[in-house]
Amino acid sequence: ATSMATQRLLYSTSTEEEVVTGKEEVHEFKTETKRLLNIVANSLYSEKEIFVRELISNAADALEKLRHSQNLDSSLESGKPLEIRIYADKEKKQFIIQDYGIGMTLDEINENLGTIARSGSKSFLEKIEKEGSASAKDSIIGQFGVGFYSTFMVGEKITVYTRSAKPGSKGYCWTTDGHGSYTVAEADNVAVGTKIVIELRDDCKSYGSHLEVDAIIKKYSNFVGFPIYLNDQEV
Ligand code: ADP
Ligand code: MG
Repeated sequence: ATSMATQRLLYSTSTEEEVVTGKEEVHEFKTETKRLLNIVANSLYSEKEIFVRELISNAADALEKLRHSQNLDSSLESGKPLEIRIYADKEKKQFIIQDYGIGMTLDEINENLGTIARSGSKSFLEKIEKEGSASAKDSIIGQFGVGFYSTFMVGEKITVYTRSAKPGSKGYCWTTDGHGSYTVAEADNVAVGTKIVIELRDDCKSYGSHLEVDAIIKKYSNFVGFPIYLNDQEV
């Protein structure tokens, strides 16, 4: 039994797997989000690897926000280290990133993941839709970045488990294939913070490779103020 437990610890992001317990509610993405997702998912943009940088940057923001809140209110102590854990799994064709940061409430999930929350996104979308050629679109994506939505360049399904650091918050599971709608449901065994699971597209399965992801992390995220672990090894 001990060795089984150790195995689980080595290869899973938490000792207990998250379980969806609530009823799955289906929500339509906002119209402009659908348009953006469609462009991003069909982009031939060659530097798809930047999704790693975007997710690390969001995780670092979330950790920074938690650290700041903890300074103001010590009841927010989650007991978890302020670190970023990434798992690349070639066999399962998965890329997973987990932070023990500020997490999201249900309202924040719908606001931040269901709409284009970033400032400048609307003008970005207008600009991108005015461009006829795929390469012009791609260069705009590269120039402006699409934040969290960059995951749709590489994933056929995205699942986000998140629980806000606000005391008493419930855990949630948000999931989508990027085609028009997403589901949200309450979930148990969700650690405070956020865990994002990307089921990689066939043509993007190299992002499940330890070596490849290690190189990408080193390329883009040298100056992140929190430790980053890849498959339980510090990068
Ligand atoms: P930006 O980082 O520029 O705000 P993103 O598209 O990268 O835009 O992320 C959108 C929003 O989703 C963030 O502002 C944040 O509120 C929320 N978010 C994304 N990732 C996380 C995370 N790991 N933890 C908490 N909130 C997150
Ligand atoms: Mg971001």
